[in-house]
Amino acid sequence: LRREAHGARFEEGRTADGKRIEVAANLGNTAHAADAVEQGAEGVGLLRTEFIFMAHPEAPDLETQIGEYRRAFDALDGRPLVARTLDVGGDKPLPYWPVPAEDNPFLGLRGLRLALTRPEVLETQLRALLTAAGERPLRIMFPMVKDVDEYRQARAIVDRLQAEIGAGDVQVGVMIEIPSAALLAPSLAAEVDFFSIGTNDLTQYTLAIDRGHATLSAQADGLHPAVLRLIQMTVDAAHAEGKWVGVCGELGSDAAAVPVLVGLGVDELSVSVRQVPMVKARLRGITQESAQHHARTALAQATSQAVRDALEAL
Ligand code: PEP
Ligand code: MG
Repeated sequence: LRREAHGARFEEGRTADGKRIEVAANLGNTAHAADAVEQGAEGVGLLRTEFIFMAHPEAPDLETQIGEYRRAFDALDGRPLVARTLDVGGDKPLPYWPVPAEDNPFLGLRGLRLALTRPEVLETQLRALLTAAGERPLRIMFPMVKDVDEYRQARAIVDRLQAEIGAGDVQVGVMIEIPSAALLAPSLAAEVDFFSIGTNDLTQYTLAIDRGHATLSAQADGLHPAVLRLIQMTVDAAHAEGKWVGVCGELGSDAAAVPVLVGLGVDELSVSVRQVPMVKARLRGITQESAQHHARTALAQATSQAVRDALEAL
């Protein structure tokens, strides 16, 4: 299977019966974009731009950021780039951007909430992304959005800059990784261009289990039926508005989860570079009908262990 997967890695992501599912790569370093293409990635589905910030002793200036994003666009050669704006705080502190001590950093100033307290940093990043993109397909994505209020504030900055810079092919979307955003997906779907589901944080916040917890994290399973219901709500809300939905959390490269996610209607899977060929191979091994059967079976269970056992038995 490995050799078959590697040989066929440049084929488009499709199920056996032809349903198109884009398979993209998650990156933390724009130097790896060329390798992602070499592994068959059809784009970058999640650029974790905070790693670019963490690699510098102070916030990278406009020119430095333009250079970074240009490098990714050049390597992608026309394929789309989903750039997540700075997602720090919580488990990802930035040394030169201290936040006041918090008892619960995972429930504190992080993600878009934190970025909106430094609008000049967010604005420089957005300016760099739009400038580097030019006419190339840029998808701007905001992290840790809880509702449409935060999204509107951030989107207003993009709209103002875009009117000035005039990049050609830009979509603006949000990560769905806080349960409130999944529950309110219909209101968000009416205003965004796309969703990408961050199953790592969505699972953590739905099950109230720290994703990095020494003994509990194994129970933070994205195949938990509560998480799957939130994914279903998200996909249904997006499609009702004609918007696309990706999954960029680790669940997207879980072999047992791929048919479930396809059956729920997910349009794109963004996974680590080395998983791209295997995910494409997994897609070629399922049909839409079998995927829907996997999704129905999973949704009918009451625990993540029951989901895994039931899927195994299919
Ligand atoms: C997620 O939360 O699922 C995600 C993709 O973002 P990160 O892992 O960077 O928090
Ligand atoms: Mg996250």
